Amino acid sequence: MATLRSSRALLDHIADESLAAPVRVKEAKERGAPVVGTFCVFTPWELVRAIGGISVSLCSTSEKPIAAAEAHLPRNLCPLIKASYGFALTDTCPYFHFCDIVIGETTCDGKKKMYEYLNRLRPVHVMQLPQTTEGESARALWRAETERLKEVIESFYGRAITDDALREAIRLKNRERRVLNRFFAVARLDPSPLTGLEILAVSDYLKCSMASEEALGVVEELTEALEEERRRGKGREAEGRKRILITGCPLGKSLHKVIRAVEEQGGGAVVAFENCGNLKSSTDLVDESRPPMEAIADRYLHIPCSCMSPNPRRLEFLSRFREEYAVDGVVDVILQACHTYAVESFSVREHLKGLGIPYIAVETDYSQGDEGQLSTRLNAFLEMI
Ligand code: SF4
Ligand code: SF4
Repeated sequence: MATLRSSRALLDHIADESLAAPVRVKEAKERGAPVVGTFCVFTPWELVRAIGGISVSLCSTSEKPIAAAEAHLPRNLCPLIKASYGFALTDTCPYFHFCDIVIGETTCDGKKKMYEYLNRLRPVHVMQLPQTTEGESARALWRAETERLKEVIESFYGRAITDDALREAIRLKNRERRVLNRFFAVARLDPSPLTGLEILAVSDYLKCSMASEEALGVVEELTEALEEERRRGKGREAEGRKRILITGCPLGKSLHKVIRAVEEQGGGAVVAFENCGNLKSSTDLVDESRPPMEAIADRYLHIPCSCMSPNPRRLEFLSRFREEYAVDGVVDVILQACHTYAVESFSVREHLKGLGIPYIAVETDYSQGDEGQLSTRLNAFLEMI
């Protein structure tokens, strides 16, 4: 058996490879691969893969392009929407630069209106997402929208999507989800051998790795290395830290300030992220035994996003992850002007109160000016737990 590299060496490798991700997209484009841009985890990844394409997650988490976006968009809009548009407008997102078409969904109002302007820069296909996951009509609408997306991709690229190719794509994406879930589960150890920023670095790495066997192998090796180091008593984390679950809006580099406030200044340990790109999008698999298009549509419809009304699965996920990760407290990260997550904050607080779990909501944006304030509030929260 080959010797495992150390977890430190593997995490360094992941950091280096993540920096090289835009180059890999450029090379794939030069080889003639379809490149499809996405913003949201409702986009069925398998449909893009089934034509041999790559699905790239477009940049949306920096303050830098927001000023440019505000020339067209109102200032009091969620920073994620403004950054998404600003990156495209200023041509500073390498993934947008190389993508042929963007797939959007009618999630929140701001995003769906932004797509109208984005469509001037690149063809945008918007999937009409039902407002609820419940009932036959919602399922029928989303299945029809998934079929429509299949037709759009086929006609845009002039390639047919076969059931065999879909089944292969389903198997591959499920494998990626399993690899990620097994990696996330390492943080269930007490103390967790991972920091919150390391967990995010790994999920971001897989997000831009095009589900390559090499990347999946690296994450599997990292998981084994962390487990082995623990067995040999080489844990990397201090004991006695309060275990924190992060929920709420999608996270990106500009929101690492929240993780730093919990871990570096507050002495806590972030052990789980319920947000998109993490447990929310990796937990459910596509059922491999069912007809592929139906199975894909049903799996994606059930993502517990606050844009759905009602959204009971988010509370179910929180109960489940709180137990699995032995969580001491929950931090809800809400982006300014994100009404759906802000409104859900009350029911999340109530739900967690019923479970006896301390909860705090922090509202923020992509600027770094509130780091001190975040640190003070989260410090006080961690002390109170
Ligand atoms: S929070 Fe909702 S709208 Fe945002 S990426 Fe996740 S699923 Fe999409
Ligand atoms: S964070 Fe909220 S407002 Fe912003 S894009 Fe996501 S759902 Fe919409």
